[in-house]
Amino acid sequence: MKQDKRRNSNTMEKTLDRLSARREAPLAVFIILLVLYLLASGVISAVAGSGVNVMIFGKELPMSTFIGVFSALSEICVIFMTFYCGEKGYFTSLTLLLVQFPFMIVGIVARNNLASLPGVFGNILAIIAITIIYLNNKKMDEYQKTLRDQAVTDALTGLPNSFACSELLNALVDKGERFAFVSIDINGFKAINDTMGFETGNHVLCEIASRWKMIADTGVSGTFDFVTRFSGDEFSLIIRNYNKDEDVLNTIRTYEAVLHDRLTIDGCDFYISASFGYAEFPADGGSADSVVSFAGTAMNVVKESNSSEHIKRFTPDMLKTEGIIEIEKKIRDALDNENIYFNLQPQFDMDHKLRGFETLARMKDADGTVISPGVFIPVAEKVGLIDKVDAMVFRKAAMFFGEAVRKSGANILLSINISVRHLMKNDFLDEIRDVLRSSGVPAERLEIEITESIMIDSMEKALQCIDEIRSMGIKIAIDDFGTGYSSLSYLNNFPANLLKIDKSFIDRMNESKSSKQYVSAIISIGHIMGFDVISEGVEEPEQIETLREIGCDFIQGFIWGRPLTQEAAEKLIFESVEK
Ligand code: C2E
Ligand code: CA
Ligand code: CA
Repeated sequence: MKQDKRRNSNTMEKTLDRLSARREAPLAVFIILLVLYLLASGVISAVAGSGVNVMIFGKELPMSTFIGVFSALSEICVIFMTFYCGEKGYFTSLTLLLVQFPFMIVGIVARNNLASLPGVFGNILAIIAITIIYLNNKKMDEYQKTLRDQAVTDALTGLPNSFACSELLNALVDKGERFAFVSIDINGFKAINDTMGFETGNHVLCEIASRWKMIADTGVSGTFDFVTRFSGDEFSLIIRNYNKDEDVLNTIRTYEAVLHDRLTIDGCDFYISASFGYAEFPADGGSADSVVSFAGTAMNVVKESNSSEHIKRFTPDMLKTEGIIEIEKKIRDALDNENIYFNLQPQFDMDHKLRGFETLARMKDADGTVISPGVFIPVAEKVGLIDKVDAMVFRKAAMFFGEAVRKSGANILLSINISVRHLMKNDFLDEIRDVLRSSGVPAERLEIEITESIMIDSMEKALQCIDEIRSMGIKIAIDDFGTGYSSLSYLNNFPANLLKIDKSFIDRMNESKSSKQYVSAIISIGHIMGFDVISEGVEEPEQIETLREIGCDFIQGFIWGRPLTQEAAEKLIFESVEK
């Protein structure tokens, strides 16, 4: 058990260590530097005062001329050892330098040989230099450790945060190790916050966290557990090192039981309970994302069922959408076989001049049947495959677009749909840079569409990502505008370039005066905020007339262009240049 615990914490340490920028050089480098040092020192003592001469470029020179070179080499070795080999390097270097002093001093005092004097000063300076390097490195390491700890710790409860959790999950999945992921939500927590205030709510969360931390740290559950606070009153638990499914249930019961102990804050007693939903890897889901998503599904079932049973394991029938598992399999196959591709729907200005294209994902199953994005995109979101789908569509569309624009010289944009989950992934920016580089599409020609309704849930993190995207020169469009929470204060803060009015508003626009005024108001507000405005799903000539009248900037819809194949899009690009 103890050994297992060590193994568990090693996995976590390793994953966290990847966050540290400075790493020690391998042992081989240390040994090479040490050997080099010893060789250089050996040559120095052999040559010093030997009187041997060597021929260089026809000139006879005493070997002692080269002492300076070897002594510089030995000093470089100790400096490198200290810099790259951590404590081991520093203390070895220090010992090597210190042991030389007695010999040098004996040389100077007893034999009255002043030739060692420069060596003494050289060694003293080397000791000062390596000590400064060592202390500096130590300070850097401590600073990095603090940064690392902050990055993986939840500030309120001191538990690991969701980042640490996903690092561990990915490490476990990579190793293929069996585990259970438990999604936990505190029941009625909102009521505590609303009636007693945030501060009391925070105390409650901290108390729960400390009880759970105690179980995880002492190992009383009999399994190895990793507790995380995700956000608000959402926690999670990763359970490892169990034999039977029953062990998982027992561990969760241990965590549930401590909630029932009396919890008193400011003289008030709180009766806490929680909903636990779990899924196992690899039995229930084959990836970290799907296990997390399925555990969340099970937890929601517990919450909705209102029964006295507060723990449930995920079962496929919990996924209400019929055929979700089948579609997930089709998406995986399509990703493996590159059967996810794209169509391009043109966007125009009000004079029918081409603005660019929106990239729309398309998927074929093994029989060649096309599956609508309205079906597979929501499933990909749910099972955590959306980033792979987005990435494949983006990569393929950018390769096409880069070449078409180079050949035609057209001044147009490529718009891509990115799910917010994908956007917030740590390596998203690298992915974008990579595709831009390989496709040759300039950042200014790329626009990323983000759906407003999903984003508002994780506003702060999303805004941070979007700022970084904007600083690269990429444009941002707010998709399906009007269908979400759309508030003015939200728009005001939002660093977008384009507002896309949802088709549902355009459909109704000519039905009543107020509907038209509504669209007109959205356009005006968009303009005040400094955005361009495009109307989606335009199908009728009367709609174009109205949109012109109320000052819309761009149009996307079947009336001027359906989603096109690559060939048709290329033809349109060339025609637009010839006009
Ligand atoms: P969306 O981003 O709002 O895309 C516009 C949808 O409206 C497209 O449907 C397009 O074909 C359709 N549309 C455009 N003009 C008209 C029109 O005049 N009349 C009608 N009836 N429909 C019109 P599609 O291709 O089925 O895409 C559905 C949704 O799937 C998209 O809605 C988007 O949310 C999502 N999606 C598509 N491709 C991707 C992708 O690569 N990544 C992500 N994350 N989502 C995608
Ligand atoms: Ca879109
Ligand atoms: Ca849209």
